[in-house]
Order: sequence, then C-alpha cells, then structure tokens
Amino acid sequence: MRVLGIETSCDETGVAVYDTDRGLLAHALFSQISLHAQYGGVVPELASRDHVRKLLPLVRQVLAEAGLAPADLDGVAYTAGPGLVGALMVGAATGRALAWALDRPAVGVHHMEGHLLAPLLEDPGLKPPFVALLVSGGHTQLVEVAAVGEYRLLGETLDDAAGEAFDKTAKMMGLPYPGGPELARLAESGRPGLFSFSRPMTDRPGLDFSFSGLKTQVLLAWQGSDQTPETRADIARGFEDAVVETLAIKCQRALDQTGARTLVVAGGVGANARLRERLQALAEKRDARVCFPRPAFCTDNGAMIAFAGALRLMAGQHEAAVVTVTPRWDMASLPSV
Ligand code: ATP
Ligand code: MG
Ligand code: FE
Repeated sequence: MRVLGIETSCDETGVAVYDTDRGLLAHALFSQISLHAQYGGVVPELASRDHVRKLLPLVRQVLAEAGLAPADLDGVAYTAGPGLVGALMVGAATGRALAWALDRPAVGVHHMEGHLLAPLLEDPGLKPPFVALLVSGGHTQLVEVAAVGEYRLLGETLDDAAGEAFDKTAKMMGLPYPGGPELARLAESGRPGLFSFSRPMTDRPGLDFSFSGLKTQVLLAWQGSDQTPETRADIARGFEDAVVETLAIKCQRALDQTGARTLVVAGGVGANARLRERLQALAEKRDARVCFPRPAFCTDNGAMIAFAGALRLMAGQHEAAVVTVTPRWDMASLPSV
C-alpha cells in the first residue's frame, strides 16, 4: 500500500510517500523558519498561509521523486492534531480533498503518534512493547507502548516542554530563532561543570518533568556573568547537561518501572547529539536497546505521518469524507490498531 503523508501542524510543511512493501519512497520538507524569525516565534496566520503556498508543489515534487502518478496512491494520511488549527486545516483539507478526488481512503493522524512511531519507520525489526520518550517543542512525555495504538502515559512535563526550554533559554541568551539547535551547537564548545544547574524533579519519585525553573536558573546565571561568548557556551553546556541528565534519569526509572528492554526516543530534542550519546550509554549498561529516528525524522516531517497513517489504513481505519482537525488531542483516546 502506497500512502501519501502530509504534515502541516506547525511551521514545517512535510510531504512523503511510504510504501508498506518497499518502505519510504520519497520525502520533502519546507521549513518556515525564515518567515517567522523576525517575530522570534511562529505566527499562526503566516504559517497557515505559507502551508497553502507550499503544500501542492511539495506533493507534486514528492510524487515525481517517487516516480508515481496521483492515481498510484492507495491512501492519504494527514496530521489532524494536535497543532495550530489553521495550519492543521490546510493539510487536512488538502489531504481529504485529494483522497476524495482519487477515490481512496484518508486518515487523520495524531502528530505525537507520528513522532512516536518514527523510530520504527526505518527499523523493521523494532516492535512494541517499549517505552517511548517523546521530547519535542510542545511535549515531554514518557509513554508505555504495549502495541501500536495502545499508549499509557507514564509521566509528562508539568510546565515547559524540553524543546521549549531549549528555545526559551537560547532566546534569553540572545541566540537567534529557533534557538534549540543553536544552543546545542554552542554547548559543543562549552566546558562541562563550570555552570551546574539542578536536575528538576529527580530528587523525588515519579516520572513527571518540570523545566521552567531550570530556565530561571540559567537566566540568573547569565545575568550575573560577564556575558562573553565563552561564558555563553559554558552556560549552554551546563543547561544541556542538566536537561540530558534529567531525561536520562527518568528514562532509567521508566525502564525499571515497566520492565521494558527497549527505549525509543522521538521528537525534535531526540536530534540532540549529547542526549543520543547519554541514552545509548544508559542502554548499554543495562543490556537494553535504545532506538532513535535519523535526526531529520526527529523534528516534524511528512515521513512519520505517511508511516503512521499507513499502519492505520492497513488496519482498515479511515475517515468519512469530512474535514475535522483536533488542535488539542489526548493520545490515550486513540483506538487500538
Ligand atoms: P510538538 O511535536 O510537541 O507539537 P514541535 O512539532 O514544534 O512540537 P518538533 O518539531 O518535534 O516540535 O521539535 C522541535 C523542537 O526540537 C524545538 O523546540 C527545537 O528547539 C528542538 N530541537 C531540535 N533540534 C535540537 C537539538 N539538536 N537539541 C535540542 N533541541 C533541539
Ligand atoms: Mg517545527
Ligand atoms: Fe512535532
């Protein structure tokens, strides 16, 4: 089954074709970063309009790269939530209309299920049960995955998401938008241990997270420092180490609590090299396995939506010929496959 995947939940237009026999056939992404940079964050209405401009050209490009005509598609998957409602509507309306015109089934995909399943996309041997760490711009969750579609939330952030903490901390220290990857790059040249920040909520049991206090600690350290480029890198390193260590401690706990032997990591912060290294070491030490998507599939992309949609379409799930999106959407309410 060949499935077209469309992602437009935020500021990236992503399109891909996934073939359930042959794997990923083509994918393309257009990032709106330069559009929003001058505002220091995503402007929802500008995002929607840009998705309108970019989506059909990207669909044509991906079909051409895959050597397919629209009629060769067996189904269409689009992100139906959570996300910015106007941005979601562009992908949902386009995907639904395309499927209707081609007389093929369409399915609305949960954006976080897309992230969660991304590690399986290029690793056919990887199957539930496992524990998933979802670390993105809007979410930080530990999820026990019994099967595709069977998700139990083990813990989540009580305030900022890990990616959000990266972005806000970067902004406070004057780094250009979007700050997360920039801060991580800067941390590479920072010296470890010069600035030491707390590992929030690791001193008590439980699997929830909190990152907003850490952000304040960094702000105070930055304001009290000489603010040289070297110091900025050292603070970035201290911040990254605190986030990575906090995530690692909670992952370890989640593996202990569930008895799972496999940890999968997904979402934009999953692209962080130091986090990948740290979790790899943790897994090796306890004879467990940790799996990540390639860094490009940690952040938003069409491939993960095509893949998650293909699994649901293969299971016979599809939507009526109406366009609905769900900007706020609890993953525990999903049907099992
Ligand atoms: P959500 O998926 O929760 O709706 P989102 O789609 O905005 O949020 P993603 O696209 O998965 O989030 O990831 C973007 C986030 O990942 C940003 O917060 C960004 O700063 C962060 N990020 C990306 N690369 C890195 C990196 N190398 N190190 C740390 N953070 C990173
Ligand atoms: Mg994004
Ligand atoms: Fe995302």
